[in-house]
Amino acid sequence: MKSTTLFASDTHRNILLPEFGEGAAVQANQHLIIDGRAGMILDPGGHKVYAKVLSETMAQLGGGKLEHIFLSHQDPDIVAALNGWLMTTDATAWAPHLWIRFIPHFGLDRLVIDRLKGLPDGGGTLKLGSTELQVLPAHFLHSPGNLQVYDPVSKILYSGDLGASLGQDYIEVSDFAAHEQFMKGFHQRYMASNRAMRRWATMASKLDIEVIAPQHGALFRGKPMVKRFIEWCAALECGSDLIDQFYPGH
Ligand code: FE
Repeated sequence: MKSTTLFASDTHRNILLPEFGEGAAVQANQHLIIDGRAGMILDPGGHKVYAKVLSETMAQLGGGKLEHIFLSHQDPDIVAALNGWLMTTDATAWAPHLWIRFIPHFGLDRLVIDRLKGLPDGGGTLKLGSTELQVLPAHFLHSPGNLQVYDPVSKILYSGDLGASLGQDYIEVSDFAAHEQFMKGFHQRYMASNRAMRRWATMASKLDIEVIAPQHGALFRGKPMVKRFIEWCAALECGSDLIDQFYPGH
């Protein structure tokens, strides 16, 4: 298994780490952004993949330094191994402020707890080398406190659970209509509402995006595919729109 380079210039690389997961745990993608000698790991995952993700991250960084750990929201497939990451690196971990008092329940050592920092609801910027990464709101998609990262150099939007797909055997979507079956059920159940989807779509459609890279499953590449996905989100009824089906007989 090899890492996949999504973008590379002389000074900037975006890397999808190899598939390390197996068994009952949901498939999850780990992404790395390197600018100059500075690195950021996004949604690094749980204990089963921790050692492999850490060693591949360090191999990709070479002599560089992991500066940031980005946590899009509080789920275990994102956050569970955070203590290990903080104990073995000097990186700062960033998560939506809403979850800062909940994440320590995964077990954060007193020595490292000050390096878990909250990001405001509206997002902001994180400096990585000479690049300003944009942190964007994606609340209720699916978590009530949920953020995404947009990289203006590679024009990749790291969308977290939004755009996730399960069960397909490819890492890049080539046929959107054929792909829909792998993501529709997930979005109908995990995303909060069409209102939340439409608000995100309004923001996303103003960005210059080449790739949307979710935390599970296949990514969307190229402006037509990105546009198609954003429009699909804006039209999808999901979550509380479908509330009656979760109360059968009541
Ligand atoms: Fe999640």
